[in-house]
Amino acid sequence: MIAARWEDGKPRCPQCGSDDVIYLEKARLFKCRTAHPKQKFSLKVGTIFEDSPLGLDKWLAGIWLIANAKNGISSYEIHRALGVTQKSAWFMLHRIRLAMQSGTLEKLSGHVGIDETYIGGKACNMHRADKARKIHGTGGGGKVAVMGLLERHGEVRTMVVANTKRKTLEKQVKANCEKGSFVYTDGLKSYNNLANDFIHGVIDHAEKYVEGHIHVNGIESFWGLLKRTIGGTYVSVEPFHLFRYLDEQAFRFNRRKVTDSERFFKVLSMVVGKRVQYQELIGRAAQ
Ligand SMILES: [Zn+2]
Repeated sequence: MIAARWEDGKPRCPQCGSDDVIYLEKARLFKCRTAHPKQKFSLKVGTIFEDSPLGLDKWLAGIWLIANAKNGISSYEIHRALGVTQKSAWFMLHRIRLAMQSGTLEKLSGHVGIDETYIGGKACNMHRADKARKIHGTGGGGKVAVMGLLERHGEVRTMVVANTKRKTLEKQVKANCEKGSFVYTDGLKSYNNLANDFIHGVIDHAEKYVEGHIHVNGIESFWGLLKRTIGGTYVSVEPFHLFRYLDEQAFRFNRRKVTDSERFFKVLSMVVGKRVQYQELIGRAAQ
């Protein structure tokens, strides 16, 4: 954990940045040798583990499970596997998803397949109060519009979008794709102006699915995977949490060719500087 947390493997004081620190074995804390307030610190400070009463044994096992579960893993499974309460497991999963957010600003380029889909909408199965809450502000039937961009032989980017209007979708394409790239979409009219900034190939699904280079099959198989995860494992996802599940699925998808252990260490290197408050997670701040 020390090696993943600090790049050179040297524990550093979060207050002053000094690596002149000692380890207090009994207290299981580090202590900075420079005199200032809060000289003692734990490995968890400044990470998604901070303020969590759960030990690293639970956290690391949880990270391994979620980083490598192809179709996701429910809080119930985590609760059973790790012996933590289901509520703790749920919170843990959300914090780990936060670590899995890529945060990259690099644009996609080359050949990019673009598509949009709707997630959710099993409104008839919900309790009435739930139903009102979930449907509020998410468009027809409680469904949430999601957009995906997949670079051929590259990474996928996904985002929740307010709607599938031209202005909304175009903005995302421009924000995520290098100008002049080849972009491929279906016949949705919202994509009509992409040719102004990109080399735009359109595939009309009414006619055929693949036409030479022009297809969106890659992103469509990503949607298939995502829907199996959300429908099968997570059952019902609150719209304001949906982006976290997208990040989780994209993280695994983008690292589908590496080993379980490599994915685990990748998440571990991403736990720093990302914290989330419980109130935010349960949606009060998010709404
Ligand atoms: Zn210090």
